[in-house]
Amino acid sequence: METMKQYIDDAEAALLHTYNRYQIVWDKGDGMYMYDIEGKKYLDFVAGIAVFALGYNNKAYNDALKAQIDKVIHTSNYYYNIPAIEAAKKLKRISQMDRVFFTNSGAEAVEGALKAAKKYAYLRDGSTDHEIIAMNHSFHGRTMGALSVTGNPHYREAFEPLIGGVKFADFNDFDSVKAQVTSKTCAIIMETVQGEGGIYPADEKFLKNVRELCDKNDILLILDEIQCGMGRTGYMYAWQKYGVKPDIMTTAKAVGCGVPVGAFMMTEKVAAQSLTSGDHGTTYGGNPLACAAVSKVIDLFEEMDILNNVKQTGDYLYKKLDALAAKCPAVKAHRGIGLIQGLEFDKSVGGIILSAIDKGLLLINAGANIIRFIPPLIATKENVDDMLAILEESINEN
Ligand SMILES: *Cc1c(COP(=O)(O)O)cnc(C)c1O
Repeated sequence: METMKQYIDDAEAALLHTYNRYQIVWDKGDGMYMYDIEGKKYLDFVAGIAVFALGYNNKAYNDALKAQIDKVIHTSNYYYNIPAIEAAKKLKRISQMDRVFFTNSGAEAVEGALKAAKKYAYLRDGSTDHEIIAMNHSFHGRTMGALSVTGNPHYREAFEPLIGGVKFADFNDFDSVKAQVTSKTCAIIMETVQGEGGIYPADEKFLKNVRELCDKNDILLILDEIQCGMGRTGYMYAWQKYGVKPDIMTTAKAVGCGVPVGAFMMTEKVAAQSLTSGDHGTTYGGNPLACAAVSKVIDLFEEMDILNNVKQTGDYLYKKLDALAAKCPAVKAHRGIGLIQGLEFDKSVGGIILSAIDKGLLLINAGANIIRFIPPLIATKENVDDMLAILEESINEN
């Protein structure tokens, strides 16, 4: 067998270098653990970036995919397929939205959401110069449209000009949002809990004020729930905690638990006057394999009572991280809900993460100074204790 080093050299010779990767080649996963090709075991508090909600190697999930592979994995959107119908019905129920469009990724879900909002405004007044308000420090994906509303100038700069008419406001600062509204504003887009930007949950008052502002001006509220959705906050979608319903929302990451799939969804009000035949499409989006995954994931969330586990383990993690923050002078802040939490340090966390990996714990950052905790949603209190023991040692070494 090739060694880890040989595989990594091969990878770096063949793949475009767009990631600075940790020097690990994976073999397999099981439950809360990942195993590299040398057999080393790691407790996983990353979950493939908030993707693998059910834990690795869930038998019911694997069996559902295998059964679909033996039938058909792709048809075409010119026909109907049963997994997509089932998955759409279930997504409607858990999201409280009325219409679903399946995509292959999160960024594509954001693209679709933006197109739906633009078309809605176009049908209303016939003009083509509508504006979108997005948030500073937001993350919506790397395609040109999603990048246009991503509030990180460093990600955008080299790719300008992006889509026009995007204005940025400060998350959780209602006055800054209000200041950007004009008669041309068609949508306000934000994450309900900012993920990549550093784990910032929305303030309830802020969200409610934005909802009211949208209602008053017929502006569509788009909530990006790609990272914070699918149970991660202890609610199926984070907005359900606040009771502030969006007009359009996005989901991806955990919705397929590893099969590349996402969706944008909307209320009937938007669906009735936005995208229609010929306005949008995708070859793969909603194919039977991806939708068999979505359908099974939603069933398993219910059977395994995932939301309840997130609330229990999330509260426990919250208390423990608060205690750690109180006794550790390098920790500046602790934020988050459920199993999406962050610890902000007074320095880069790169060294701490490398020490943790060395000791068999996977952690990931969100910005240079923040460690993000986004484990599979099956994590237990015992997993939290094990994680904290390694984290503390790693902090002390750095
Ligand atoms: C990951 C992420 C995206 C992009 O999803 P991809 O599947 O990587 O395209 C968009 N929005 C949020 C909030 C995300 O966390």
